Order: sequence, then structure tokens, then C-alpha cells
Amino acid sequence: MPPVLDGPLAPGTVIGILGGGQLGRMSALAAARLGYRCHIYCPEPEAPAAQVTNLATVAAYEDEAALARFAAAVDVATFEFENIPFSTVETLGNLAPLRPKADVLRICQDRLLEKEFCNRLGVPTARFAKVASRDDLARAVHDIVTPCVLKTARLGYDGKGQVLIEAGTDLEDAWSTMIGQGHSGPGIVESFVDFAVEVSVIVARAADGTTQSYVPVENEHRNHILDRTIVPARIAPEVAKQADDLACGLAEGLDLIGLLAVEMFVTKEGEVLVNELAPRPHNSGHWTIDACVTSQFEQFIRAVAGLPLGATTRHADAEMMNLLGDEIDRWPEILSDPAAKLHLYGKAEARPGRKMGHVTRLKPKG
Ligand code: AMP
Repeated sequence: MPPVLDGPLAPGTVIGILGGGQLGRMSALAAARLGYRCHIYCPEPEAPAAQVTNLATVAAYEDEAALARFAAAVDVATFEFENIPFSTVETLGNLAPLRPKADVLRICQDRLLEKEFCNRLGVPTARFAKVASRDDLARAVHDIVTPCVLKTARLGYDGKGQVLIEAGTDLEDAWSTMIGQGHSGPGIVESFVDFAVEVSVIVARAADGTTQSYVPVENEHRNHILDRTIVPARIAPEVAKQADDLACGLAEGLDLIGLLAVEMFVTKEGEVLVNELAPRPHNSGHWTIDACVTSQFEQFIRAVAGLPLGATTRHADAEMMNLLGDEIDRWPEILSDPAAKLHLYGKAEARPGRKMGHVTRLKPKG
């Protein structure tokens, strides 16, 4: 039987986090405020999360001996991003209490499983078809109808491995482009959604099954990467309720303990379609650090540690902008803006498109 956590974790105990990025960093900072210690496991030395903890394992995700030592050193384990090999998370789940459970990651790592799961629960998505090989693509495009989007089923993020297919698009080229971006099949073809707005809802679910969600927020992307989050989303109250209901239903359906971010399209007709699930803190929830009683990071730690969830009430409206690549050079100017809260992630190299930090500006609640 995999180990399970019985009751709340006592202060001073250790939360293990697979992944060393900014989500792990901000989670570890929140955990520290609650009196916990975090142990970061990731392959990169000097990772953003490891910089703010004194317990770290720098090892490959495939290093089973290092993983076993890590499991023995933590009281509960979790993960801060999806693209960790599933076998690593599965192995860890047999060695230490793991929240959320490995099966949640299995579904959320794969766009096909994710959409099938949504549809089984009656949650609407864009129409989609599986593309097992290059030969399948013509049939899938014929079924779904152009315009549509070819995406790698696994290991895609921030638009990597995605190709827009229109009436005249050469399908051989489209497949090669997806593969050329470093991905192998299978893929998924989805109908292109002519959305009015993209929104997301972040919901936490505790060990006792209670849920708490944050207000739906509006997300603007640039080159497929989140650029700006506007809080709250400028959508009708009934659309906001629908988005919230879908997110809470998905957290229940996954039997999740932890945090789930649900990215959705709102069509011009007010229909809400789920695009992606992320079972962890999410970029579109960074505003909660400065604008809410309980941030998404504290909520994540509360759920993983078996504590009661905190209030998701916001005391201000907000706008969050990501600082990508050399936009980080604007830090002096941002610091001189009295309305701006600056958050930097400690990354040494500002590669184009890399998430280096974010800035949140608060406004009185409208
Ligand atoms: P994803 O990696 O699926 O989150 O896609 C990144 C971004 O690409 C989304 O946030 C949308 O802006 C856009 N996108 C992805 N899939 C679709 C789709 N089926 N229809 C329209 N836009 C899409």
C-alpha cells in the first residue's frame, strides 16, 4: 500500500517538492511562513526554488537511488510542474505520501486523456481527435474541420509543439513542424476556438474534500505565453459561475488533494470550454500573493499538508504582468512605481520568453 498522510502535518516537518522553478520557490516561501521546511528535488543546480530552502537534492528525475533518499527525507511530497517523467512521480508515490496522487498527473500530462476525462464528466472542450501518426493527420483534420490546431499530446507547454492548420496548410509540413519542435507523436487535433476571452479558475481541494476557489481571471497571451492577468475577468456573472462550477467539478472528479488550475475559453456566445488543466499553482494565480487573504501558494501548501483551506477572498482587484526575458531589466522603473509589487525569480540567464519575474498592481475592488 502506498504511504498516506494521517492528519495535518506538524510545523517543522518537511514538504518535498519535485521541480525547482518559480512555482516551487513561491510555494516554499509560503510553506516557510506556516513553519514548514521544504526539500526541493530537481536536476538543475541553483534552481529558483532551491535558492530559498536549505534542503535540496540535485539529481536526474530518473535517479532512483536519489529519489529513494528524497522520499525518506520528506513527510509529504508534491510537484510543481507537469513535465516530470510519470514513472518518477509513480515511484515517489510508493515511497512517500504524495499529494496530489500520481494518477492526477498521468491525466494532466496528456492533452488527450485530459480532454477525454473532461468530456466523461460532462465538461465541454473544443472538438478533438487523436493523431497517432503522420498518416492519421488528414483524417483528423477532415473530421475536426479547419481551422484547427495540431498539438503534441504530451510535454507541450507555452505553445511549444503547436501548429495552426488552415484550409491551405500542407499537412506534411504541419506534422514536421510539430516533430521539429522536439516532440514525437501522438498528437491531438483540436478545433480552433474563436474565443472572446480566455479565463482561468484556480481551485483548492483539501484532504476532507472541501474546496475553495478564486474568482475567475482573464488571461492575455503573447506568442502563446501568458502576458497579463486581469482580476476579475470581465465576464457576465452567470459565465463566471459556470467557470467556477466546472473547475470545482473537475477537482472533485480527479479526487484531487492540492491545487488545480483550469484554463478555459469563453466563446462569443458565452459558452465555456476547458482548454487545459494544471494540478499545481499557476501563473494566472500569482496576483493572489498581493491581493488575497490566502495566496494560491499558501493554499497549495495547506492542502498538501492536510490543513484546513484558507479564505480566497480578495481585498483588491489586480493586474499581473509577466516579465519575460530581458523585460526583467525594467526592475528599477517598476520599483519606483508605488502601485507596483515586484517579484523576481532568481534566474541567472534572461533567455527570450523565459519567465524571469512578474509585477502585480492592485486597484480598489470594482
Ligand atoms: P495551450 O498550450 O493549450 O495552453 O495553448 C496556449 C495558447 O494557445 C492558449 O492559451 C490559446 O491562446 C492558444 N490556443 C491553444 N489552443 C487553442 C484552440 N484550440 N483554439 C484557439 N486558441 C488556442
